[in-house]
Amino acid sequence: MTIKAFEGCIIGAAVGDSLGLPYEGLSLRRASRLFPRRERHHFLFGRGMISDDTEHALMVAQAVIDSGGDPERFSKSLARRLRWWFLGLPAGIGLATLRACLKLCVGVSPHKSGVFSAGNGPAMRSAIIGVMYGADIERMKAFVRRSTIITHTDPKAYIGAFAVALAAHLSATGATIDGAAYLAALRSALADEPLPSREGSQFSPLLRRGLGVRCCSDEEFFALMRDVAESISKNEATTDFYQRLAPNAKQGISGYIYHTVPAVIHAWLRHPANFKAALLDIIACGGDTDTTGAILGAIIGARVGVEGIPRAWIDGILEYPESVGFMKMVARQLEQARLGDSLKTVNIAFPLLLARNFVFAVVVLYHGFRRLLPPY
Ligand SMILES: [Mg+2]
Repeated sequence: MTIKAFEGCIIGAAVGDSLGLPYEGLSLRRASRLFPRRERHHFLFGRGMISDDTEHALMVAQAVIDSGGDPERFSKSLARRLRWWFLGLPAGIGLATLRACLKLCVGVSPHKSGVFSAGNGPAMRSAIIGVMYGADIERMKAFVRRSTIITHTDPKAYIGAFAVALAAHLSATGATIDGAAYLAALRSALADEPLPSREGSQFSPLLRRGLGVRCCSDEEFFALMRDVAESISKNEATTDFYQRLAPNAKQGISGYIYHTVPAVIHAWLRHPANFKAALLDIIACGGDTDTTGAILGAIIGARVGVEGIPRAWIDGILEYPESVGFMKMVARQLEQARLGDSLKTVNIAFPLLLARNFVFAVVVLYHGFRRLLPPY
């Protein structure tokens, strides 16, 4: 891996997140009326801002740097970062993540803070882990597991997050990959997976009781991935694929991780090296567009690097203090950490974060009111 993959992964996530954000939760019809030009930023005067998806990716990246390769240190650092992030009053936060962060804030350990949910939160955090540790599958699993259970304990959340990490790793290697090859890689990586239900305190007793012998819905996930692979070989569009996957989803791709991840993997496999085409496809699917955009952007960005991402999309990001420059600095530190250096991460001053989040919340509110007005 090189610095190119780290930069592309983080900035790719930021670009996908910021482009997708104004479309989040709009019906497909409404989206095409309100913001017909999907290739432009629409959040604030033609510029874009990042949401929780990129913030989580950055927190994971910094926790990886802090960890020195040790999953336990990673977990502690991520927990501390999530606490501060939560206290900064982020405007966009999933329900499970909110509950888990509340638990972390009252002193619950990161091993027990997660709640039983298969939301897509962990999938937005795992691409960077894949880029960092993909060559060492066991370490990648350990980090994805820690990153997942801190907020989500449904094994589906782990499987989905792992699938994203693996995709980001394969993407970063630059290898040509089709649906069948990805499915084979996923199967082999998860073949000897210790059942999460047997991992003691990492999963709740309730979950362990309910899981029985075979805990994971991995067969369900593999079936979904087989469907993705077949669809890719038939050259089916991602929008059509998703409509078959979830025929009742009028609001587009849901936040259920077994909806989010197959759709994102589909768009990636269709356009493995074409950042722009893939992003436009996934936003056209609607639904949780900031999250799908961020995950897909991270995966493809890891391959194409900053040079492969449309310049205007990067320049259109209006962020402070977590600017594009800050993201590049984190990417540089990741590369140094990968080479074995131990580094001090740069933390954002809390008052700055609060001020930024206030501005962001005002713009989110504006969008909420704007949606009450025509065109419908
Ligand atoms: Mg978001």
